[in-house]
Amino acid sequence: MMANSQNNEKKIAIVGAGISGLHCAKILKSKGFNVTVFDKNSEIGGRMQTSEIDGFLIDHGFHVLQTAYPETSKNINYKSLECKPFKSGARIVSLNNGKIRMKLIADPWRNPIAGFFSLFNGFLSFKDLLRFALLRRTIMKGKIDQLFDGNDGSTLEYLQERKLSNNAINRFFLPLFGGIFLESKLQTSERLFRFIFRMMAKGKMVLPKNGINSVPFTIAQEIGMDNIRLGVEISRIENKALRFRGEAHRFDLVIKAFNEPQEGDGKHVWTVYFDAPKSPLRSKHILLNSNLADSSSIVSHVAVPSDIQPSYAPSGRSLVAATVVGDRAIEMGLESEDSIEESVRNDLGTWFGDGTVSTWKTLTIQHIAHALPISNPGERLTNVPKNGDDAIECGDHMLHGSVEGAMLSGRNSALIAINRLKNNSEPVQGPKKKV
Ligand SMILES: Cc1cc2nc3c(=O)[nH]c(=O)nc-3n(C[C@H](O)[C@H](O)[C@H](O)COP(=O)(O)OP(=O)(O)OC[C@H]3O[C@@H](n4cnc5c(N)ncnc54)[C@H](O)[C@@H]3O)c2cc1C
Repeated sequence: MMANSQNNEKKIAIVGAGISGLHCAKILKSKGFNVTVFDKNSEIGGRMQTSEIDGFLIDHGFHVLQTAYPETSKNINYKSLECKPFKSGARIVSLNNGKIRMKLIADPWRNPIAGFFSLFNGFLSFKDLLRFALLRRTIMKGKIDQLFDGNDGSTLEYLQERKLSNNAINRFFLPLFGGIFLESKLQTSERLFRFIFRMMAKGKMVLPKNGINSVPFTIAQEIGMDNIRLGVEISRIENKALRFRGEAHRFDLVIKAFNEPQEGDGKHVWTVYFDAPKSPLRSKHILLNSNLADSSSIVSHVAVPSDIQPSYAPSGRSLVAATVVGDRAIEMGLESEDSIEESVRNDLGTWFGDGTVSTWKTLTIQHIAHALPISNPGERLTNVPKNGDDAIECGDHMLHGSVEGAMLSGRNSALIAINRLKNNSEPVQGPKKKV
């Protein structure tokens, strides 16, 4: 490794102040490089944004962190962000013969008492519970990298091969993992399913006190805001030069930390946020819609962030977030904000009572295009981010769509950059790709 003082003379530009670019910048800065991060937006954080509306903290799309994410937990101080957890397990809402039921599915390995009772609540058959236990045991075994080895079918095929019933798949896995992968057919690679399942079984799902944007914000503060130039759109990226505001600017190295989404590319999602006088949920769980596959309902899940972090709502109010996966909305012919709001209110009215939901004020209806990259089978998903031959690129599209995927990719690009500047050689050689 070069001495830090020598690194100081090397100028590196990173285009993109999302979590991947910021993490990459932080690592390079800690090695003494002279780093500047550019972003076309006026805010740092890319897709991890939080706005304030009427005193509520509104994340752009319901967004959580997993404490078991390896790269994230090593580099983000959950304690200083005052993160608080959702309860493990989930509540499941179902409509049967006109009757609404909200049952708890607890993880017996994490919460033995609630889990034990939830085994007998009639939601899943004894066979499914047994197969669920086997699935869990398989996924919890071995090293994380091994989760990315072996078969690369879809999540749906993986669950079917493990003989989970359609009932279990449609009523539990579809609303939960469809809501995470932002797709309604569980077509995402089983490799990513195994990884996320393990993260959820091992750690906690948490929310930071000041909104999801506080995660990239803390990294930005470590880099120093003086080293981040916002509102600068880069029109051309070369190996050692950037073009913006009509001029070329030279660097020793340039890193591209974003994806150029094409029309119809990636996955999209609708999130409708409501101001409610009180929380409609009785516990700090996420609520999953078990009728998603067999009815015209559209909401995958409902969360009440202010139950976890009271800072998300003004005193005496609750923030309710309903998530609708983009392809489900299209399937149901819903493309406008009005039609989404109406259908969401319909679902919520069925579950919590029309009288209750009619008192809720809609705070915002968000449609987030290009929310996540597609990670379908056959893309040979590994735990090693891809990289090009000459340009160094990072972002969740280089690995998988999650904070962890983005941060790991940011680290990978930083290591490639260090290696390249050290050897002053081209093309770039990143860590060997596993296939
Ligand atoms: C609604 C939603 C919910 C999610 N929920 C979760 C969750 O619960 N858990 C989880 O782990 N992950 C979740 N994710 C995924 C996670 O947010 C992303 O994987 C991560 O934020 C991606 O970071 P990134 O740096 O790769 O890309 P981005 O955040 O997209 O950053 C790229 C940056 O590059 C900038 N840029 C692009 N072009 C230019 C240009 N020409 N010049 C200058 N700047 C440019 C952009 O403005 C942007 O700021 C969610 C994502 C969404 C959208």
